[in-house]
Amino acid sequence: MKDQVSTIITTQKEKFSSYVSRYEKTLSELFSENQNILDTSVNRGVPGLVMRDILECKPLSVFIPEEYEGRGTNTAECLKVLEVSSYHSLPLSLMVGINGALFLQPLSLYGQDSKKESVYHDFIHNRNMGGLMITEPGYGSDALHMQTSYTESDKGFSIKGTKHWAGLTGWADYWLLTARRQDDKGNLARDIDFFIHSSKHDGGIKVKEVFNNLGLFMLPYGRNEINTTVDPESKLVPRSTGVKMMLDILHRSRMQFPGMAMGFIKRNLDEAINHCRDRFVGGKSLLEYDQVQERISKIQAAFTTCSAMCAFTSKNATMQHDLARADLQANTIKTLISDYMQDTAQSLLQLVGAKGYKQEHIAGKGVVDSRPFQIFEGSNDILYQQITESVVKSMRRAKLTNLFSFLKDHELSNHSAVMLKDTLNFDIDYTLSQRKLVDLGQALSRVFSMNFVVQLGENGFRSDLIQNALSHLSQEVSQHINAYSGKQELLVVTDYTEDSDWSSYLK
Ligand SMILES: Cc1cc2nc3c(=O)[nH]c(=O)nc-3n(C[C@H](O)[C@H](O)[C@H](O)COP(=O)(O)OP(=O)(O)OC[C@H]3O[C@@H](n4cnc5c(N)ncnc54)[C@H](O)[C@@H]3O)c2cc1C
Repeated sequence: MKDQVSTIITTQKEKFSSYVSRYEKTLSELFSENQNILDTSVNRGVPGLVMRDILECKPLSVFIPEEYEGRGTNTAECLKVLEVSSYHSLPLSLMVGINGALFLQPLSLYGQDSKKESVYHDFIHNRNMGGLMITEPGYGSDALHMQTSYTESDKGFSIKGTKHWAGLTGWADYWLLTARRQDDKGNLARDIDFFIHSSKHDGGIKVKEVFNNLGLFMLPYGRNEINTTVDPESKLVPRSTGVKMMLDILHRSRMQFPGMAMGFIKRNLDEAINHCRDRFVGGKSLLEYDQVQERISKIQAAFTTCSAMCAFTSKNATMQHDLARADLQANTIKTLISDYMQDTAQSLLQLVGAKGYKQEHIAGKGVVDSRPFQIFEGSNDILYQQITESVVKSMRRAKLTNLFSFLKDHELSNHSAVMLKDTLNFDIDYTLSQRKLVDLGQALSRVFSMNFVVQLGENGFRSDLIQNALSHLSQEVSQHINAYSGKQELLVVTDYTEDSDWSSYLK
């Protein structure tokens, strides 16, 4: 019966190209008509009527399987919807991303069938939303040691704990709650489990504090106290351990960051070109200045690299791929693209000048809104470190010390390493300081991203943009390798105030 229904839906389904243009047109109209409400950083939240019009287009349906009335779970379609959203509003795209990657995709992959029907129905017909709660006040980067616990009884699972910074706090109708099993002696298991919670079900999640987040004003954040019991069907079912399920979920989400970045970076590029073409300084257009060209060509390189990442993710992070072991791909993509989001926003603000510093201007807003992408879902400092650790581990296993020898045969750098032979042709130590691991991780993420760009070029993407991106990436690899080799292990003087006031040393 379900198969028949899904065939009918498939044949009746609007073509994706027409669906996405309709969504794009709606956002263009909404964001130009409601500029005062939506384009100022002063107002928090989204007016109900605007939200209604956005959700009327059902952007979340791309994350819902066809048998549950969604458009299917095609990764390329998900990325396109994120891109169209972020061209108009990065917070809107993050909202779609939270619902999609942090709630609907995990439900689709690990949820019990008995639960899916009603939850998907609520998303499609009742404009419901969902988010994910992992972070706790004492456990952010160190999430595996979270203290939220659960016990099991005939009624289901009783969950207790405190979570904060979950996107859509106080708004979401559904949550994925993460917790560790507590035994009779009060000890917590090492594994992590996921549970679906419906706010309709009880008042078991209480918002204790609402945060004044610095940016992303459309999205509410805060601190929640959890004391609830969910039914047995609410538990997600991992293929092996809960930690592996969590890695699959987080890697999948990190690999979809380029969807959110794509529209944002394209918008920064369009704004930069338009502004610099029209702004005359010293009798000539800003576009004619060499330093301005350098900045905009960097934004353009970020645009191309992001496009290459979208193409890579579309092919390599489908719902059929288990991504629990895709740490290298996921960490490369998440770190580099979130750095590019911030860099392109900073460059746009520089080019626009003082006007960009008005709170309501897209340039300044982009700087603040894109900054947390470098912090959430794995702090970039830690992920860069992990990229190098993963490479060093494989080199050790292969008994190799020369970086080029290793990278030239690696599937993520088999095209790019040969272009960088002179830069990468050196031996590395298996035991590196953390700061060196981070520097090398920054270089490696660019080497791997060059590979994505080469592949996009081979697929026919325009060659001038490919060449520009490869040149910028290769310059960045050299810069990070130089930083790595020249790094001095300088330490902080924490007790520094004595004999350190410059005004006492005037001669
Ligand atoms: C806008 C926003 C949205 C978010 N959305 C969600 C959400 O939807 N759901 C959710 O569960 N959480 C969410 N978070 C929380 C986010 O995932 C955490 O903030 C993040 O994991 C970092 O944890 P922390 O803030 O406790 O920082 P900490 O763990 O205290 O780390 C702070 C910094 O210390 C440094 N550091 C930490 N550990 C190490 C180390 N081992 N080595 C070197 N340096 C280190 C890094 O520079 C790091 O950035 C969100 C946060 C923000 C700001």
